Amino acid sequence: MKSKVFALLDAWKEDYAQTLMRYVEVPSLKAAPLPNAPFGAEVRRMLDMAMEDCRRFGFVTRDFDGYAADATLGDAPEAIAVLAHLDVVPAGDGWDTPPFEAVRKDDLVYGRGTGDDKGPAIAAMYAMRAIREAGVPLKRSIRLILGCDEESGWDDMAYYCAHTEMPETGFSPDASFPLINTEKAMLSLGMSAPLSPEGLQVLEMYTGERMNVIPGECVCVVSGGAETVDGVRAFSQETGMDYKAELTDKGVRITATGIPGHSAYPAGRRNAIGMMLVLLRRLGVQGPLAALADLYGMESNGASLGIAYSDEVSGALTCNMGILHLENGRVYATLDNRVPITADLDQMEKTLREKLSGFTIEHLKKTAPHHVPADSELVTCLLGAYHDNTGLPAVPEYTGGGTYAKVLKQGVAFGAYFPDDPDLAHQANEYVNLNKMILAAKIYADALMRLCAE
Ligand SMILES: [Zn+2]
Repeated sequence: MKSKVFALLDAWKEDYAQTLMRYVEVPSLKAAPLPNAPFGAEVRRMLDMAMEDCRRFGFVTRDFDGYAADATLGDAPEAIAVLAHLDVVPAGDGWDTPPFEAVRKDDLVYGRGTGDDKGPAIAAMYAMRAIREAGVPLKRSIRLILGCDEESGWDDMAYYCAHTEMPETGFSPDASFPLINTEKAMLSLGMSAPLSPEGLQVLEMYTGERMNVIPGECVCVVSGGAETVDGVRAFSQETGMDYKAELTDKGVRITATGIPGHSAYPAGRRNAIGMMLVLLRRLGVQGPLAALADLYGMESNGASLGIAYSDEVSGALTCNMGILHLENGRVYATLDNRVPITADLDQMEKTLREKLSGFTIEHLKKTAPHHVPADSELVTCLLGAYHDNTGLPAVPEYTGGGTYAKVLKQGVAFGAYFPDDPDLAHQANEYVNLNKMILAAKIYADALMRLCAE
C-alpha cells in the first residue's frame, strides 16, 4: 500500500507544482469583509479554489461561511485533523521576483505563501489524495481543515469550533520537522511608574509597538551637554555595543542599536531597550528606569526578576521588554515572558509583583502551556514516519511561539520546513523545493496511514 501511495506522489510532482503555482498567484491577504467573505474577496477565491480541488480529489467538503473549510476522506466517526491555512502575510520589501507571481527555477518555486502555508497544505492534500487513490481502507477518517485567518486573529478557528466539532487529535503542517509537541506558557504584562526628579533627566523616549518584538533600535533624549556625549562614547567603547550620541537644542540625543528579532527567540539578538537602560543607569538615571536596568537590563532569562525557570522538556524562560515609552512624566514598559511548562504561573506572577512593587501593573495576561506527551500514539506515529523516510533524528521539540496546532486538544506542529531549510516564513524570497514538498507529502501520507489505516 505504502509503495503505491509513494509512487502516486512521485508521479504527481508536476501536478503538485501546477497546483502550488495556481494558489500562490491568489494574493490571499486579509482584507475588508464582504458578504460570505469575512476576510475579503481574494481569501474567498482562494478557499473556493482549494475546496474545488478537494472535491475533484474525492473528498467531502464543507464551507464555514468563508472563515474556514474542511475536506474529509473516509466516513469513520473518529477523525484525525490536519490543520493548515490559506491566508498569507503581506509581501514586504526585498523580493527579487514578484511575490504573487509564482516563479519556478528548476525545482524551486518562489512566491509569498509557498512555505507558509500553501505548499505544506497542498502536500497534505496530495497525501490524502494518494491514500484515496491507492484504496487504503481507513478505520479513522482524515479531515483537512483549511483556515483563512491564521496570520491575524485566528477568527477562522473560533468560527469553525463554534459551528462544528473539532477533532481532538491531529497535526498542523505549519512549522518545521521533526515535530513540535510543546509550546511554552506565556505571561505578559504592562507596568508604569512616575519618573524620578533626581539624577539624569530623560526628556523623550518612545520605543516599540509590540510586546513580542525585540526592538533593534532605541532612541531617547536626555538632559546634559558635551560631558554626557563623552559618557556615551566611553560606555560604547567599554562594552563594544553600538551607541551614538549627539548634542541637539533639546538635549543629548542617544541612539542604541541592537539586533532585532522575535521575543520568543532571544539567542543571537540584542534588545536595544535593554542596552539603553544600562547606559542610562551609567549616566546617572534614577527611579523606575534605574530599577528596570537592575531588574531587566541585558538579561533575556529573567534572572534578576527571580523567574529564570527552565526544564528539560521546554528549555529556559525567555523575557523580553518590547515597549518602553515616556508619557506625561511616567514610564510605561512591557514584559513578554515565554515560560517553561513546569513553572507555576501563579507563583511567577507573585514573584513579579513583589520585584516590581515600585510599579503599577497596568495589565497582566497568563496563557497556559500546550503539551502532547512524546510517548503518545500521535507523536510516535508522526516521528516514526519522519524518521523512516528521512533517516534523520526524530526528537520532539519545544517552541516559545504559538502554532496553529494548539487549537487541537492533542495537536502538534509537523513540518513542512526541514531542519536544513532556511526559515523563510514572512520573509522576502520565500520559496519551496518541490522535491522536499513531495517528501513532506510522503511523510504525511505515511503518518496518516499509521494513524488511520485499518
Ligand atoms: Zn503559517
